[in-house]
Amino acid sequence: TVRTRVAPSPTGDPHVGTAYIALFNLAFAKSQGGQFLLRIEDTDQARSTPESEQQIMDSLRWLGLDWDEGPDIGGDKGPYRQSERREIYAEHAQILLDKGHAFRCFCSSERLDALRAEQTANKQAPGYDGHCLHLSEEEVQARLAAGEEHVLRMKIPAEGTCKVEDMLRGTIEIDWSQVDMQVLVKGDGMPTYHLANVVDDHLMEITHVIRGEEWINSAPKHQLLYKYFGWEMPALCHMPLLRNPDKSKLSKRKNPTSITYYRDAGYLPEALLNYLGRMGWSMPDEREKFSLKEMMESFDISRVSLGGPIFDQEKLSWLNASWIREDLSTEEFADRLHNWLLNKDFIMKFLPFAQGRVERLSDFAPMAAFMFSGMLDLTAEDFAHKKLEEAEVKKVLQFTLWRLEQLRQWNKSNIFNEIKTLSKEMGLKLGDFNHPIFVAIAGTPNSWSVMDSMEILGADMTRARLRHAVA
Ligand code: ATP
Ligand code: GLU
Repeated sequence: TVRTRVAPSPTGDPHVGTAYIALFNLAFAKSQGGQFLLRIEDTDQARSTPESEQQIMDSLRWLGLDWDEGPDIGGDKGPYRQSERREIYAEHAQILLDKGHAFRCFCSSERLDALRAEQTANKQAPGYDGHCLHLSEEEVQARLAAGEEHVLRMKIPAEGTCKVEDMLRGTIEIDWSQVDMQVLVKGDGMPTYHLANVVDDHLMEITHVIRGEEWINSAPKHQLLYKYFGWEMPALCHMPLLRNPDKSKLSKRKNPTSITYYRDAGYLPEALLNYLGRMGWSMPDEREKFSLKEMMESFDISRVSLGGPIFDQEKLSWLNASWIREDLSTEEFADRLHNWLLNKDFIMKFLPFAQGRVERLSDFAPMAAFMFSGMLDLTAEDFAHKKLEEAEVKKVLQFTLWRLEQLRQWNKSNIFNEIKTLSKEMGLKLGDFNHPIFVAIAGTPNSWSVMDSMEILGADMTRARLRHAVA
């Protein structure tokens, strides 16, 4: 039976790219009567968080991209979280060492940095130079006994060309000289993506790997690992990446990329799925509107086109409007609105602020409207302030946007720190500096703490409003 998987790393907001890849894996598996799995790739312990994992699961479920096996529901081939599979990777790393397909590398990061600098200066492709490839067994043992830190690297053929089959692209040829001696196990004993991914896809009996194009360059290494282990490799299919309207790779610097943004901005899951289904793919009859069920029934992977699909929020809005207008009864529309507006988890985050400010319940709607809005309709006059000139207002908004784009952890205190630092650097009093921020986020300077609002609205919505205000 066909088995596919989506294998996100829980290192940030749940990405629309993850939903897009999940959708194609699910549609392919179900069109073949197969199974679809969720595997959490959390080997990067420093960046992975349980909150991010939960958000990924919640948002895939919100979209209706349900899995047959996964960390929360279990299955025969678990555990489905890589951090719980360390012994499995250690055993497999040992197999590669025993067979002579991998070697221990003791090079210091200083040596590797110097090597990279030299390669860059000589316009050579960066890559490991094989310094530790031929250490004698005695030397390896002595250095191990001395407790020297080291990594495990895979051996790569010295010459020749690697040929990899891709379901959409045919044969891809890459010279082995272009392929790096990939680290398989890091200094701390954790496997890298490459080792864990290959071992898991094999043990979980994945038959087809459908993933983003960004992984094509890894395919030769993966193919070689399958060969080293003596395993059959799943079929590979690299999907074109989603793009911004200017054709660059979809990125949060230019567009919201978090699934939660699209949910909070009021898109229906059906419409978002439908739109993602049209990213590089079309129904055999070319119809624009289709449900997940219809996509699964008519799915044909050979209809994927490789030109970079453009993810355009305006087109998505158009499609969303048509779902709301044509596919919901007024009764259903009422239910959707009710659930969206009165999502208790969400409103509880700011109700305490509103409660202290309303005299009548009817004061609530105008006061809290900005928590339920997309972009706010603002003019230069809304930003007018006696202490700030127009140019300064723009600067405050633009610099804040740039700072917040760099922020790793989205929370009130981190946001506040950025704003405090920036206002000092610009020589502005915090109150004056905050004025345009209030207006851009809440539409008025008379709202509750804007830091709280930014935390609650989330990174993508905050950045989108700041971007909108600067434009
Ligand atoms: P950045 O915005 O910093 O470039 P990113 O958007 O690439 O980061 P990641 O955390 O690297 O975000 O990616 C999260 C997941 O989304 C990965 O599984 C990745 O394959 C997928 N992804 C990221 N960008 C795209 C894209 N443009 N199209 C399809 N999938 C994408
Ligand atoms: N963890 C990888 C990602 O985040 C998985 C890539 C793959 O599907 O092999 O995209």
